[in-house]
Amino acid sequence: MLSEEPGAAGPYPWQNAQWRLLTDSATTGRLHHAYLISGPAGTGKTGFARAFAHALLCERFAQSATACGECARCKLVTAGTHPDFIELSWIDKATTISVDQVRSLTTKLALTATFDQRRVAIVHRANSMSPAAANGLLKTLEEPPPGCVLLLVADREAALPITVRSRCQRVLMPLPPRAESVAWLETAGIENAETLLACAHGAPLAARVLAADDSVGNIENLQRQWREFLLGRVEVVPMAEASAKMLATRECLSLFSLWLIEIARGAECTPGAPVNRARRRYFGEVSRILAHSMKLDNASLKTQAVIEGVLADIKIIRARIRAETSP
Ligand SMILES: [Zn+2]
Repeated sequence: MLSEEPGAAGPYPWQNAQWRLLTDSATTGRLHHAYLISGPAGTGKTGFARAFAHALLCERFAQSATACGECARCKLVTAGTHPDFIELSWIDKATTISVDQVRSLTTKLALTATFDQRRVAIVHRANSMSPAAANGLLKTLEEPPPGCVLLLVADREAALPITVRSRCQRVLMPLPPRAESVAWLETAGIENAETLLACAHGAPLAARVLAADDSVGNIENLQRQWREFLLGRVEVVPMAEASAKMLATRECLSLFSLWLIEIARGAECTPGAPVNRARRRYFGEVSRILAHSMKLDNASLKTQAVIEGVLADIKIIRARIRAETSP
């Protein structure tokens, strides 16, 4: 029933529990009038809200708990012309949702529905409502017109006034488990899924966006450079410069760790290659340096400075191990 892509059929695979909760409420007459769908960016909240709104508006929702995609109302939703479906987001270059937008929304919601009782509105980026806009929405949240369902979508729930939050039922959308995201990205034909996911802080949709632009090539380049650095063929400063240009400190350290594991695994698995005790020790030391640095609170320091420090430590360890093991 649930498809890979959200839309008429349903949500993303990692949203099945939340989907079931909401559709069960709707089919058993326990639908709340307002939901706050919140969680980190890049996890598919927008797609989820649209899929749920679409399902609620479908003529056959009561039978199938999903949007059929074929009835007249589904077709109107798909065409963006359903009169009882309203979406609010930023207009042009604005980075907030204005009180005028909210006023227009509440006015429309107060009108009689065109088809049946149900009207659905999504407020995207709800945490960017101006204080006046949030205030303007309160009355509708307190006394919703019959049949109205409001879906507020927010990356940062805490940025919404408590008065708004307390009147919505919360739907949390945490980051999906890493393995599930990797599997989904790989099914979508995306190579290097682990790396991209690490760059995207674990958010699968953000990782897919990265895969679609030039970042992949750049990240693969950095991965190559890291490999060379470990072998002593790239110097500390250029390596740190290249890393800081692309990534924040934490992302950078976690990618180095991830790549180190891949390299170590590759080295162990090469058929016929003896497991080199010095190399194993070197990888162990590098891993320890990276892990230690990740534990430090270096948020206020410049990425390049932090990475330079880490790489310099690795260089010292490499020299020491080399000196100890050379005949
Ligand atoms: Zn339908």
